[in-house]
Amino acid sequence: MTPEGRALLLEGAAELGLKLAPEQVEQFGHLLALLTQASAQMNLTALRGERDILLKHFVDSLTCLRGGWLDGGQRVLDLGTGAGFPALPLAIVQPRLQIVPLDATRKKVEFVERTAQALGLENVHPLTGRAESLGRDPQQRERYDRVVTRAVAALPVLAELALPFLRVGGLLVAQKGPLTPEELEAGTRAAAEVGGQVRVAEPFTLPLAGDARTLVVIEKTASTPERYPRREGVPNRKPLF
Ligand code: SAM
Repeated sequence: MTPEGRALLLEGAAELGLKLAPEQVEQFGHLLALLTQASAQMNLTALRGERDILLKHFVDSLTCLRGGWLDGGQRVLDLGTGAGFPALPLAIVQPRLQIVPLDATRKKVEFVERTAQALGLENVHPLTGRAESLGRDPQQRERYDRVVTRAVAALPVLAELALPFLRVGGLLVAQKGPLTPEELEAGTRAAAEVGGQVRVAEPFTLPLAGDARTLVVIEKTASTPERYPRREGVPNRKPLF
């Protein structure tokens, strides 16, 4: 990481109230190098260039920590992690969280696994598969305190895919771009159908970059009916609302 990049990362994190330790900055530098190297060989992420990766992957992922919903030794699923976002930045900054990055694409999960090992992140436990199938697996269903997700699907789809993984009382923390009132309304209805209630939908801007974001928090208040999630592809093709 260049000295300018380091300053940018520290400033972005500080705007979120986070003071990164030197070892954490080093881990982010290592992550940047591995991501840049791997992106040259496979289609991992559309973002190129140090500034964009630092702000729009690393700092952006850390915005999931707004509001203090993620804490302590919680078991956290990152639904649709891709190249490891927000899972890897969260694992660096909050080493007590036990994070399971999940993605349907094996080569992405393999990248996340190799990278977590290279960074010495023992709190990252990657998983390959589709949320529709794993959400029905007794080893995974209702086993998580938190589900985080970024840039994966519209809110009603996320509610159906994520809530089965949560224990009652657990939270879905969904990081979204600008949210229309229609998407929030549909998401609220879908959440109610699968046992959840929207607690927060907070607009904010991404530190230093200024892009519009919304953090949506849905609490699981009742067990998800057995019929959800529906089979592979159906939640996306035919959202509940
Ligand atoms: N969260 C990452 C980020 O913010 O950079 C990746 C976002 S990428 C646009 C969406 C990812 O979600 C893809 O890697 C895709 O394979 C994964 N995905 C979408 N639907 C999924 C499902 N039903 N089960 C598992 N993974 C899924």
